[in-house]
This record gives sequence, C-alpha cells and structure tokens, in this order.
Amino acid sequence: MSNSLHLGRLFGIPFRLHYTWFIIFAIVTVSLSMYYFPNFYPLWSKSRYWIVGIVTSLFFFASVLAHELAHSLVCLRSGIPVKSITLFIFGGVAQITREAARPRTELVMAVAGPLSSLAIAGLFTVVWFLARGVSEPVAALAWWLATINTLLALFNMIPGFPLDGGRVLRSIIWAVTGDYRRSTRIASLTGQGIAYLLIFGGVLIMFRGYLVDGLWLAFIGWFLDNAAVQSYRQAVLRDSLQGFTAQDVMSVDYASLPGDLTIRELVEGHLLRTSRRYFLVTDDGRLSGIVTLHNIRAVPQQLWDTTSIRQAMTPTEKLKVAQPGEDAVSILEQMVEEDINQMPVVREGRVIGMIARDNLLHFIKMRSELRI
Ligand SMILES: [Zn+2]
Repeated sequence: MSNSLHLGRLFGIPFRLHYTWFIIFAIVTVSLSMYYFPNFYPLWSKSRYWIVGIVTSLFFFASVLAHELAHSLVCLRSGIPVKSITLFIFGGVAQITREAARPRTELVMAVAGPLSSLAIAGLFTVVWFLARGVSEPVAALAWWLATINTLLALFNMIPGFPLDGGRVLRSIIWAVTGDYRRSTRIASLTGQGIAYLLIFGGVLIMFRGYLVDGLWLAFIGWFLDNAAVQSYRQAVLRDSLQGFTAQDVMSVDYASLPGDLTIRELVEGHLLRTSRRYFLVTDDGRLSGIVTLHNIRAVPQQLWDTTSIRQAMTPTEKLKVAQPGEDAVSILEQMVEEDINQMPVVREGRVIGMIARDNLLHFIKMRSELRI
C-alpha cells in the first residue's frame, strides 16, 4: 500500500525500503562501476569495478540507515516513539509519531543525523588512510564513502525545514520566540528560499552547458521546495488537530450500499450521479468493506454486470479502522504513512463516521473561519 518493502527491525524499529530506493541504488552502482572507478583506477578488471561498485553502494545504504537510526535513537531516548524508518530516493525518513515537545529535544534529535554522518565519514577516512598502498579497492571504496557521508551531512544541514538543518533552525527560533508555529513557518520559508536558489542556480548551470549537473541541482531544489511546502502544511494540520479525537473530526456525510449491488449499478446509479469517490459496503448495518474508484478500475469493464461490489471492495480486515476516541493526530499520521485517503470510524462493528484527509482540512478551515 505504501510502496515500500518491509525489511526487518532494528532496535525494535521496523525499517523499510521505498521502491525509489532501488532506482537510486542502481544509479549509484552504475555510476560508480562504469564511470567513477574506471576514471580513477583505469587498470582494474571489469568484474572488480562491479564488485567494488556494489559493495560501496551497500555501504552507502548502511550509512544512510545509520543516519536515520541516529535520529531515531535520540527520539526513543527522549520518549518519542519511532514508528518506522523508510529509505527512499533522497535518503531516509524516520517516522516519528510525535514532534518534540521542547526545542532542546528537537535540536538534539536533528543534529544527531548529520553528526553520525560526519562520524562515519571520519571512520572511512581512517580506513582509507590505513588501506592506502595496501589494497587499492578498499582505499577507493573508503575514499568515496568518506566524501559522500560528508556531503550527506552538509546537504542535511541546509537550514530549510524539513531537512535536519531546518529543524535546527526551527528549534533555535522556537527557543527564542516560544512560538512553535511561527518558527515552523520561518524554517519552511527559508527551505523554500534555498530551494528556489538551487533551481535558479541549476538553470543557470544548464545554460552554461552543464546540462546534467544543472538538472540535478534544479531537481534537488524542486524536491526541497515540495518537501518544505508539504511538511509545513503537515505541521500546521498536526498542530491544529491537537487535542481532538476521531469522533470530533469525522464526517457523517458518507453513503453506504449493500454488497450485492453490481459494479455497473454502482457506477451508473451512484458514482456518476454524486460527487463521492468511495462508498461503504455494509451488510445489516455492519461494515464489510469500502469500494473506491481504485477498486472499480481493477475490474475489467466487461465484468461490471456480473461482479458485485462485495467482490471488488477492499474488505474490512484489510482496512485501517479508527476507534471513536482515538487521537486525531495519530490518525492523520497513519493516513500519511500508509497513504490512505479515508478511514471509517467504527463503534462495535458499526460505522459511525468517516475520516477523509480532505475532511480534516475542511474541519480545520471551518473552525478557523468560525473562530471556534
Ligand atoms: Zn537526517
């Protein structure tokens, strides 16, 4: 569901690989084995380039994991549970369930990652120093990893939220002003400013003829801008939902249908005639599943007359369901983490409401417009 592969647990924290990681793994391995190593060490055999390339990539992977693990361990020590660590295209994300309650905690949490990257860089520098003249492949591997971990530390210290440096900036402003939301705003805006600079610089470099380098820089800028906007929104939403339960934020504006309806009947009788994108499937008032556009598209059109929505739906066992008293912030986090758009609120097997991500925004907007 969340496009990632569960790999195992470290210190009790589940860790996963997002599918984009495989892309970056391939890019790193290919560029090391086909360009970087052949360029600096022209005398190696072809198989050696590939073996050293793959081993170096695996160490790179371990370095990124160690960076995230450092954040996570500080979180755990400060009493903040860590749900999971996911590695994806630009590194990793440690999914923490709560934000730090104090600026000092956030500061320590944020610097732990870059510091561990620097420590790893130092370690590989020592390995490089010892391996020089003894084993060229080991020295080559160590040198590249020392460099990349230094870059990783530097990149993450860019002072734009949600990067580590942005979190450091936020914690400092937060400590000075005591205003959590404003400090998040400033740190995100700084992130966006830096992102635009990177995009601008990237385009400039492209015009100077360095197409690939410029494109990369612009791409990183674009990514950073997206991340800044999204995590700011997330932070505001999270902040505004503080103290509410599922029952408070759920919507009672949903529709349920009997499971023996055919898909054709659903599409022509309901889906095209309302603005709803999903329907609950119930039997005698008990929830048996949800049918969404996604489910319908999975069934070939010639089968729409003969397939019931019960056969096409996502059954309750596979759904995330909220309890009425559950904390709204943690529900939002589950939805984000697992990429779910709607979640039924269920009391003793019966649906009493729906939480949709858009609904949460509506809830916040209405409350702020009504000033309640
Ligand atoms: Zn980090």
